[in-house]
Amino acid sequence: MREVQRIVLINGISLPLSATEEDAFQEARRRLRGVHLLSSARELSLYRRSVDARKKKDIRLVYGVAVTLLLPDSFKKPLPFPVLEQQAPEAVYGEEPLSAPPVVVGSGPCGLFCALLLAEHGYRPVLLERGGSVEERKKAVSAFAQTRLLDTECNIQFGAGGAGTFSDGKLVTRVNDSLCRFVLETFVSYGAPSDILTSAKPHIGTDILCVIVERMLEKIEKCGGRVLYHTKMTGIRKVGSRAVAVETNHGEIPLGALVLATGHSARDTYQMLMQSGFSIEPKPFSVGFRIEHKQEDIDKALYGDFAGHPKLAHAEYALSHNTKERGVYTFCMCPGGEVVAGSSEEGGVVVNGMSNRARDGENANSAVLCSVFPEDYGQTPQGAIAFARGIEQAAFAAGGGDYSVPLSTVGDFLSGKIGTEPERIRPTYMGGNAFGLARPEAYLPAFVCEALRNGLLDFDNKIDGFAISDAVLSGAETRTSAPLRLLRTAERTALGFANIYPAGEGAGYAGGITSAAIDGVRTALSLMKTFAPQKDF
Ligand SMILES: Cc1cc2nc3c(=O)[nH]c(=O)nc-3n(C[C@H](O)[C@H](O)[C@H](O)COP(=O)(O)OP(=O)(O)OC[C@H]3O[C@@H](n4cnc5c(N)ncnc54)[C@H](O)[C@@H]3O)c2cc1C
Repeated sequence: MREVQRIVLINGISLPLSATEEDAFQEARRRLRGVHLLSSARELSLYRRSVDARKKKDIRLVYGVAVTLLLPDSFKKPLPFPVLEQQAPEAVYGEEPLSAPPVVVGSGPCGLFCALLLAEHGYRPVLLERGGSVEERKKAVSAFAQTRLLDTECNIQFGAGGAGTFSDGKLVTRVNDSLCRFVLETFVSYGAPSDILTSAKPHIGTDILCVIVERMLEKIEKCGGRVLYHTKMTGIRKVGSRAVAVETNHGEIPLGALVLATGHSARDTYQMLMQSGFSIEPKPFSVGFRIEHKQEDIDKALYGDFAGHPKLAHAEYALSHNTKERGVYTFCMCPGGEVVAGSSEEGGVVVNGMSNRARDGENANSAVLCSVFPEDYGQTPQGAIAFARGIEQAAFAAGGGDYSVPLSTVGDFLSGKIGTEPERIRPTYMGGNAFGLARPEAYLPAFVCEALRNGLLDFDNKIDGFAISDAVLSGAETRTSAPLRLLRTAERTALGFANIYPAGEGAGYAGGITSAAIDGVRTALSLMKTFAPQKDF
């Protein structure tokens, strides 16, 4: 008798904190028995583990168990559990010959995954990166904190691994794509801890990400690709609707196809693309500040007496407050993390957040953001960039003009005062002392401040102490999502161009590491579907 294999997911196994993984498997077996499928079960594995802290007196662990079933071919009944549809990227090669290697611009998660797949399939891509290697970036980031001289080409946003390298490495995504698992497994194969495969809130940490990025870049080169640092695309030479070369600070590089994975911080590149005939539209994005609390206060507020329990990681939150006009929400919460300087343009202060794998810092931080829409900034791509840049420049001035961050306590922000020094909660930006006291009104528009004030008060109802007066606010947070979208066809080529593929966050098709990586993989698959692999460039 022929048999078919199906992997199903038994979700929502809620157990007390004292339970073990084996208890979750026992419960899965009990449920399989109840639907007469236990004898078909061949393998059980932990698929997901999350924490349900809605009732502080009864915090529970919620497991998902994956079960491999071996079923007779004749089994036609619908399965009582969802079937796991996991996909590895399947390459189909096209026939069109490439006149020169494909060039991928940008080594962030999108460009990295795209170039890696192309390299593994024999396309010998050339990966261009305006910034330096991971080691050079580490030096540039720490030199910035010490000297306050910003390297506009090599910083938290630009360099090997893109904005993803010094990111927190949270891999949660709202994208429901069957390639999510592939991205996580790829990270694990390059050195990420395997618990990211089962955690409901997978987190790698900046320290480990740096190593992973280096290994992935090495693999691209081992497979015959090339990685060119300090090489900035400054223009695209086209013949008709086809790109034939990229212009760079080191001269022209001929190409057969071009992937634009330049992220959303490269405003000079956006400008060049706008002048090169690309269809670009403005889109909603968000602006605001970072809030810092003591992590132990957040743990206490969310876990009550269970705070510090060995089975509980530091508490995380994601909050939202919606009004008719616009949403206010928290984003990119970094437990035990620090606020980092994300500037990439001279005279602009940008904040973001990150944590190392251990998440053992004193503070919790997250972005508190308010949505802005094209009608807030004149409905043009140029207006979107000018709006965000204006906030960053105002933050620079408000902080004192030396890349110190403008900082206010929540108490001052809510009561309209200025000048209270942080005491119990010490800010972490640039090691803690680089701030000038300033109200958020000094760098954010009044309508944004009003929305953020209302949001903080609402969040305080959801997490006791969220709007505690000595929590600190630093700004400006302007780079959480792309303000523009480069329009592309169903084949992922830019409107009006045959062999140019805009991809990732900068092109407006991703938000975060996992979705940018997936977009990179899908872009590589599209490119391969048109062009034949070419081994002898
Ligand atoms: C501090 C920080 C923390 C973050 N934390 C998280 C997190 O925990 N989880 C999460 O999901 N996301 C996080 N993000 C966001 C995440 O990093 C981005 O969403 C993601 O990196 C976008 O990927 P991308 O490849 O599309 O673009 P990017 O990562 O921005 O990469 C673009 C690359 O293109 C290069 N480039 C730009 N223009 C040119 C040019 N003209 N020529 C050559 N090269 C060029 C840049 O130098 C850069 O390396 C964080 C970001 C930051 C800054």
